[in-house]
Amino acid sequence: MASRPAHDLLQRVFGYDDFRGPQQDIVEHVAAGHDALVLMPTGGGKSLCYQVPALLRDGVGIVISPLIALMQDQVEALRQLGVRAEYLNSTLDGETAARVERELLAGELDMLYVAPERLLTGRFLSLLSRSHVALFAIDEAHCVSQWGHDFRPEYRQLTVLHERWPDIPRIALTATADPPTQREIAERLDLADARHFVSSFDRPNIRYTVVQKDNARKQLTDFLRGHRSEAGIVYCMSRRKVEETAEFLCGQGFNALPYHAGLPPEVRANNQRRFLREDGIVMCATIAFGMGIDKPDVRFVAHTDLPKSMEGYYQETGRAGRDGEAAEAWLCYGLGDVVLLKQMIEQSEASEERKQLERSKLDHLLGYCESMQCRRQVLLAGFGETYPQPCGNCDNCLTPPAAWDATIPAQKALSCVYRSGQRFGVGHLIDILRGSENEKIKQQGHDKLSTYAIGRDLDARTWRSVFRQLVAASMLEVDSEGHGGLRLTDASRDVLTGRRQISMRRDAASTTGGRERSAQRTGLSVLPQDLALFNALRGLRAELAREQNVPAFVIFHDSTLRNIAEQRPASLDELARVGGIGGTKLSRYGPRLVEIVREEG
Ligand code: ADP
Ligand code: ZN
Repeated sequence: MASRPAHDLLQRVFGYDDFRGPQQDIVEHVAAGHDALVLMPTGGGKSLCYQVPALLRDGVGIVISPLIALMQDQVEALRQLGVRAEYLNSTLDGETAARVERELLAGELDMLYVAPERLLTGRFLSLLSRSHVALFAIDEAHCVSQWGHDFRPEYRQLTVLHERWPDIPRIALTATADPPTQREIAERLDLADARHFVSSFDRPNIRYTVVQKDNARKQLTDFLRGHRSEAGIVYCMSRRKVEETAEFLCGQGFNALPYHAGLPPEVRANNQRRFLREDGIVMCATIAFGMGIDKPDVRFVAHTDLPKSMEGYYQETGRAGRDGEAAEAWLCYGLGDVVLLKQMIEQSEASEERKQLERSKLDHLLGYCESMQCRRQVLLAGFGETYPQPCGNCDNCLTPPAAWDATIPAQKALSCVYRSGQRFGVGHLIDILRGSENEKIKQQGHDKLSTYAIGRDLDARTWRSVFRQLVAASMLEVDSEGHGGLRLTDASRDVLTGRRQISMRRDAASTTGGRERSAQRTGLSVLPQDLALFNALRGLRAELAREQNVPAFVIFHDSTLRNIAEQRPASLDELARVGGIGGTKLSRYGPRLVEIVREEG
């Protein structure tokens, strides 16, 4: 049977029982010498798709990756499996680079990671023509696309591989979900004839939650308390907010670090390193942080501001739960975010065409935030995928939101905007509706308006919710002068004239109890009776990681340790059957693991 060698290798080297999803088809296709374009979500298991065929075929697998900072960890993870892997990039000293090149020529490598700019040098291409290459893997293939934010010009030149070595299979991989980028990859990398393997982009282990901003810091700390001593990312919009949030969280007893493009490179590198290597760090970051963070045990991704688009949001949240264990994507947003982002678009220097694109991206995202439907269904629909049933693992499925008839409040809000001249911001509009007697109201003579004090029946929080939903649904627009004033739109007319009914989402009260309980269920599920052993195993792993100066997860994943703690293998034979333990790890670490199980068990 054709699949035997691949399957044997998977068990022997990687210690996994079975391929996941489409992995087996991809591996066999590439191992047989064909080209492939693989679209799979983060955490789907792309690496195996080129690692297994590279090991099955004669020669060295060349992996092109833009993520220099991560090559070392990837190579280290392979070495832990007994694979002869190396990398070549600008961080190596001349001597080491020369050794790697010698090993390449001597056929002593199974796998070589290389940065695109290095690959494209005449020197390296000539080295390659004197080596025996098993395959070319082009990782993060969306870097070839000008539309994505990770555009790398060198990627455009990778067609040289096909031109010079037409018989060597190429496999390009990306986790980018949107169809235009996918088409561009196939075209630019000359992979139109390659077989395309498109997986579902669903990440079933991630729980999506959106909360309305009320008391942002308290909401964030409540959320984080449900994730004590777990690693996660807190995204903030600005550099300043990153630093303030990190400082605030440290003050609250969390192990938080800042990351943004304005920090000195060595601070950035060091913080990233700590995030990868230490347990339980909360990284407060702008979106400069993330591409290629392949730490498998990120348990949550929190957004404290509105992201700019669905694709961005999906990519950022995709960094949670790559190990397939329960993880949480939490987004906290409010009216202020909507107004700010809309203002930024209107005030930018971009062409009208570009602005239109940005507007529709934002509207799409707002639709997601305000939706009362299953979040997963909305999310995947955005990527052209149909998710048949409500998922049962998002906030809207778990606690279905209540709707209320907001037609009359919407009419009051819109007429208040109109009567006051379509130039005031939400705070003032609510003051008018609620009949406030402050200075500005008197100065402007707004206590004489027919809409003055007609909204005393609702509290300010509810009014904010009404305005937010009106803006999100484009029944109000934000002025382009940048004062945050609101104006009517074409869509408002039907509401004002009573031709259109408005149903709104009732914002949940900001309680914490329920949230904390639900957060607990999204952590790594270690049974209470296994906890002592699990922690002892973690202790051993930390020791091994320190000795070898590598991140703990390249030695064992949390899930592997949890499985050991659960199954309590009494011998090496039994240990070999635990998922995640291949031959090399078994002989290297097996005896010590079994010893710990014996002592603790
Ligand atoms: P991606 O690059 O697609 O984000 P990775 O290749 O890093 O994903 O794989 C994600 C995680 O899933 C890794 O921890 C990997 O070890 C694990 N994994 C991949 N394939 C399998 C499999 N067949 N069985 C068990 N675990 C797997
Ligand atoms: Zn759902």
